[in-house]
Amino acid sequence: MNSKKFVGGTGTDNGRGGVPYWQTKHLDQMTPAEWEGLCDRCGRCCLMKLEDEDTSRIYATDVGCRLLNDQTCQCRDYENRHEVVTDCVQISASAVADLTWLPMTCAYRLIDEGRDLYWWHHLVSGDFDTVHVAGISVKGRIFEEDAVPLADLENHIVDWPFKDLPGPDKTVRATHVKKSPNTQKNC
Ligand code: SF4
Ligand code: SF4
Repeated sequence: MNSKKFVGGTGTDNGRGGVPYWQTKHLDQMTPAEWEGLCDRCGRCCLMKLEDEDTSRIYATDVGCRLLNDQTCQCRDYENRHEVVTDCVQISASAVADLTWLPMTCAYRLIDEGRDLYWWHHLVSGDFDTVHVAGISVKGRIFEEDAVPLADLENHIVDWPFKDLPGPDKTVRATHVKKSPNTQKNC
């Protein structure tokens, strides 16, 4: 999960003739503030995942990482997360295409695939709550990591975190070429 900084609102003009930055820039062209502002705070990437050892397929569960706040859907210790949760994966512009477990609705994935943001993204709606109102965030629908024994994790596999939704359309921005899947599995 990424930061808490809000960057602009509906129709943000970033000096590009009124076109929002996420419709014109590739991920690797964004400023740190723009990058952090892109996170929709859904918390879906912070769910525990399981990997099938035979097929390498990744399954999502409805169990949150121990640092995930199930109400705000944000990391409780974002600055120090890698010290606390050592397998928390850093999302970067160059890594997004390889992170096949990123939710289909993840803003980083959408932009990397040349798609626009959904209406409920705070950069479009101007409201951080719309990700919850739209039922996209994990708010109120997950279990805490400490409450679920590892052996029971398989019984918590759910499909909603990885489901695609209709829209949004492709933008005029060129897409990045997809690379081969890998097996990373947290955050
Ligand atoms: S899935 Fe993507 S948009 Fe949602 S919290 Fe994680 S990084 Fe942010
Ligand atoms: S430490 Fe956990 S809650 Fe925090 S960003 Fe990583 S996976 Fe998400």
